[in-house]
Amino acid sequence: MPFQLYNFLLKKGLERRPAQERFFQIVSHTIEKGGISIIQAPTGTGKTYGYLIPILEKGQKAIISTGTKLLQEQLRRDIETLKVYHSYLTGEELDYLVLKGKSNYLCLDRFYQLQSDKRPSQIEDMLKGEWDGDWEFAHVDAELWKEICVEDDYCTPHYRGICKYREECYYWSRLKRRERKARIIIVNHALLALKEFENPEDRLLVIDEAHELDKYVTSSLTDGVSTYTLRVEIMERIAQFLPEAKADVEEFFERHFSKMFNEDTQQIPLKDLSPYLRDFEELIIRPINLYYKRIKEKLISEIKNYLISKLWISLRLRDYLQRSSLLNWEEYFQLNVSFDEPTEEEERVIKKLKTYELLEKKIQRLKDFYKVMKSPPADMGFSVSRRWSSRLKAFNYRLEKFPVFPAGYFDLSGYRGVIITSATVDPEYLYQTMGIVGEFYDLPHTFPYHRVEFVVYNANPKEKEEWEQCLKLAYKRLRTLHDRVLVLLTNKEQLGLFKDEEGVAVQGEDRLSLLVEALRKGQIKALIGLDSLWFGIDVKGEKGILMAKLPFDSPEDPLTYHRIRYLKEIGEEPFEYQKMKALIKFRQGLGRMMRSSQDFGTIILCDRRIFKFKEFRQAVEGLGMKIKYIKHV
Ligand code: SF4
Repeated sequence: MPFQLYNFLLKKGLERRPAQERFFQIVSHTIEKGGISIIQAPTGTGKTYGYLIPILEKGQKAIISTGTKLLQEQLRRDIETLKVYHSYLTGEELDYLVLKGKSNYLCLDRFYQLQSDKRPSQIEDMLKGEWDGDWEFAHVDAELWKEICVEDDYCTPHYRGICKYREECYYWSRLKRRERKARIIIVNHALLALKEFENPEDRLLVIDEAHELDKYVTSSLTDGVSTYTLRVEIMERIAQFLPEAKADVEEFFERHFSKMFNEDTQQIPLKDLSPYLRDFEELIIRPINLYYKRIKEKLISEIKNYLISKLWISLRLRDYLQRSSLLNWEEYFQLNVSFDEPTEEEERVIKKLKTYELLEKKIQRLKDFYKVMKSPPADMGFSVSRRWSSRLKAFNYRLEKFPVFPAGYFDLSGYRGVIITSATVDPEYLYQTMGIVGEFYDLPHTFPYHRVEFVVYNANPKEKEEWEQCLKLAYKRLRTLHDRVLVLLTNKEQLGLFKDEEGVAVQGEDRLSLLVEALRKGQIKALIGLDSLWFGIDVKGEKGILMAKLPFDSPEDPLTYHRIRYLKEIGEEPFEYQKMKALIKFRQGLGRMMRSSQDFGTIILCDRRIFKFKEFRQAVEGLGMKIKYIKHV
């Protein structure tokens, strides 16, 4: 490879890997020729350096998208390492930026709207320092943060133009300046789906961890109506104009949904929303509409009375009035404008107008949701979820709509070139879920999987009791063989099977990164969990892995439910989709075993259906593992 940085890293001890060098070539080619390259790069390829090195060597600007905020931080660490070498070799300082969604940043204007005794003191302190406005470092609870973070409905383009904190605004000034300058911008998939970048034609887009792209894109396109929206964002604002206003918005959710939930359920698919339409109109839409009309009339009259007594008003107030459309053009042009800052009295009027504007936007969203309820498109799915809210001191129910397949919401055409990569990326799945088509490259795996024993126990998850017994036996067997065990389950109910075992930690007890660290250090013997364990954890060295069963998504998962429904409706076979998705997850699970070339261990799968679905068997054998079948467990 004619790469200066790469050669330098080789001298520093980086292992030469043919698959990684092939990765460099594909990235270089995509930078030169454009187009979309889809690269399946098994664990051990070194894919992060695989794209970062050519980007740096070629002086290319790039946007790199990964699954989660946690992975963004991991990427930051890799870039920091390369940055030092790059600067040593070229004398050039690499400018990069880790960018999160807007709602992760503080809005100064909203913060100062809070009464001073309600403002979190740690934020007051951080404002004096080098903080970049990022919630991650603010230690403020989620519901309070929701009231002070950047929000599109609040910070409209017009408001931004006149906001008194615009120059020092964390998101719209400081971060925007850095974004323009940064050679590499690191985002996550949810943000990538929503954000428009300046001059994308200058940038290579890299989508890493692409096996979950559709999940994150779908979640960022999900929209809904919640108890919180109705009570806090609508009714509390209405009460600021009409203190006597009341609407029992909780009644709608309680009446229809409370009985659907038990302790374990958090989200339930809804076939369609027509059974709730009448009550939604009567209990929510109608009273809110009536209040809104009264508020508008009241506000117009108050504003007119106020203006009669004024010879001059400030430019800022006039701007606001123009935006609110409360006056007609004639009245508006009769106003005399001064260039002075708004008086205190005017500030109060502006605040009222701002509250009205926000209320109007929230009500418009509510009406948009109602329209979809009345005539739901077939390619849209629905669900209801609930979580305890400390702000509401009640369950916060949320009714949601989402695109069944987010294909068509995601445009990759504007970039200089696109690299889509993961250890398990299936071009057919990408096409079906995201509508993405590109040149596919399948790089060979490099780890010695023949050192791993892959054992299948004779059990069928459909025969629940026997299968559960088998799971427990498999766990005990792995614990006798290995000091560290990962247990990959497929639903919450299975967690209970291990509650009496010693030395185990269950996902959710603490931050996952801390639990993984505890397992690495031997402070716990086993880590048990669901999705995140199949996909995203890295425990090097000898270990045992228990796979409860082939990881087909539960049809009770709202997205899966609606994908199955939709595929049936358009005459396609949903099982092919389900199998493709389960296979991606299964291969990710296999990938948990070999995290370095020295690793080895045992995988036990308690699901004999692997012999029925040949794709799963081939995935194991394709890595070089022999399958050992235990008929009598
Ligand atoms: S510009 Fe917008 S986000 Fe920034 S402080 Fe003002 S209102 Fe908040």
